[in-house]
Amino acid sequence: MSEAHRVAVVGCGVFGAVTALRLAEEGHRVTVFERARRPLSQASFNNQNRLHLGFHYPRDRTTAEQCVRGYQRFREEFAPCVVTDFPNGYFVAEEGSAVTPRQYLDFCDAVGLRYQRVEPADYRPPVTGVALGLLTEEAVIDCGQLRDLLTARLADSTVTVRLGTDVREVVERGDRYLLRTDEGDAGTFDSVVNCGFADINRLNRQLGHPAPERQYEYTAVLVVEWDHPPVGVTVMDGRFTTLLPFGRSGHFLLYHVEHSVLDRVTARVAPTRWRGREPEDLVREDLEGRFRRMLGEATRFVPSLGTARLRDVLHGPRVVLAHRDDTDARPSMVNTPGPGYVTVFSGKLDHSVWAADEVVRRVRERAA
Ligand SMILES: Cc1cc2nc3c(=O)[nH]c(=O)nc-3n(C[C@H](O)[C@H](O)[C@H](O)COP(=O)(O)OP(=O)(O)OC[C@H]3O[C@@H](n4cnc5c(N)ncnc54)[C@H](O)[C@@H]3O)c2cc1C
Repeated sequence: MSEAHRVAVVGCGVFGAVTALRLAEEGHRVTVFERARRPLSQASFNNQNRLHLGFHYPRDRTTAEQCVRGYQRFREEFAPCVVTDFPNGYFVAEEGSAVTPRQYLDFCDAVGLRYQRVEPADYRPPVTGVALGLLTEEAVIDCGQLRDLLTARLADSTVTVRLGTDVREVVERGDRYLLRTDEGDAGTFDSVVNCGFADINRLNRQLGHPAPERQYEYTAVLVVEWDHPPVGVTVMDGRFTTLLPFGRSGHFLLYHVEHSVLDRVTARVAPTRWRGREPEDLVREDLEGRFRRMLGEATRFVPSLGTARLRDVLHGPRVVLAHRDDTDARPSMVNTPGPGYVTVFSGKLDHSVWAADEVVRRVRERAA
């Protein structure tokens, strides 16, 4: 019997975890390296927890269609972590929206998204300052439960997980790769899958592969208490607010397209100063003041949100394609810049399922 193909996965966010499990099921010998002490503790936890069905991307058909492709499979594969029992509305702002109500409805119909029209004043809570309201079937993900589920699945699998281990360098050794970590050499691998999200380009650059300019953002999603049953309100399409249930916690996540971005840089690699930022660093950013500004914006659309209180903050880096403000594109991309070296640039959580299929196909070809 031939020896198992050895695969290193860099990063244990949702993309790294799902990919590692799928590769192990194929019979590969998989090791995942994660810099943080916990899996799914970076962007895979610090996000808006929306299980995107496509409604958010009327200006980028590719992203919308990738969400349609990922939504149902993600829901089935991670059913215990998916929260659906709440009304979830999308609304088009009367002023300042990049799409008109007609364009938005045409987009939904063209992509095949199902919705019910809703009178904004009759929604609970009533929504003001909007010209169109749609009730959708979009869900949210309880990212804490997703972390627990994937951690348990990894523990039950043949995958070796090395937490608290930073991959500093990947070096080509003949037709294999040597990984150097902060703890020393970690051995050689036949394939490397880079799921490092905001840090993908660092290793790409070391290996001499393309490391295109990206837009890096340090973001803050606010966790708020509000005496209201779980509900979703997303105002489209521009610099507006989103309110969503925070998984099953009973709290809400408040996000604003502009005010939730604390820092933004267009560069080839993410700023190292962002690594390991603690909540205390953010206090200096005046979170309470930011919350007040976000609440001021949000109550233009949801007046009853004025009683909400700031409870916590989810923060960390995000990477998106550079110079795409016109479309707000958030696609996921699987690439093979070198033999046996696969990169996964992730756009949305639910893309992780089909992105893993794509990685498995590429590693299978390499192992053949
Ligand atoms: C504010 C915000 C809101 C968002 N809202 C949503 C949303 O509502 N719905 C949605 O679907 N998506 C959303 N996203 C996007 C989504 O969060 C990401 O697409 C997804 O979490 C990325 O998963 P990942 O596994 O690629 O990245 P991560 O979860 O960040 O995992 C990458 C991991 O790699 C590790 N790593 C990196 N380099 C190394 C190295 N050299 N050695 C060891 N470890 C390394 C990091 O520590 C990290 O844990 C949002 C993102 C942000 C920031």
